[in-house]
Amino acid sequence: MIMAMRVQRRNRSMRANANLDIQSIAKDRIEYLHGLALRNASSDVRLSQSSIIIMERLALRFDITLSPKIKRSYCKKCKTPYSSDTRIRLKDGLSIITCGKCGDIRRLPYHR
Ligand SMILES: [Zn+2]
Repeated sequence: MIMAMRVQRRNRSMRANANLDIQSIAKDRIEYLHGLALRNASSDVRLSQSSIIIMERLALRFDITLSPKIKRSYCKKCKTPYSSDTRIRLKDGLSIITCGKCGDIRRLPYHR
């Protein structure tokens, strides 16, 4: 009986380690997909959109919070990375970001 419990406990900790590995693999993958999206923002818009969609799905599936740096780098509506045709205006402590592709407006606070 005691032996069986010990075995069970060891299995549980092994599973926890496996989860950690999967999480770090997913994080690496998210960073790779984000880099891919940024690199192809001007040359292949569809590829960069689909890599952002896959990146978001990975974060959702593995319960990973995307860093603010990643979250603020693309349009949440059309999944296109912000580029030179994106308009950024500062007003009343907010940076107002207008997507150049779909015209979606985001208002984010900034600190002076
Ligand atoms: Zn957009």
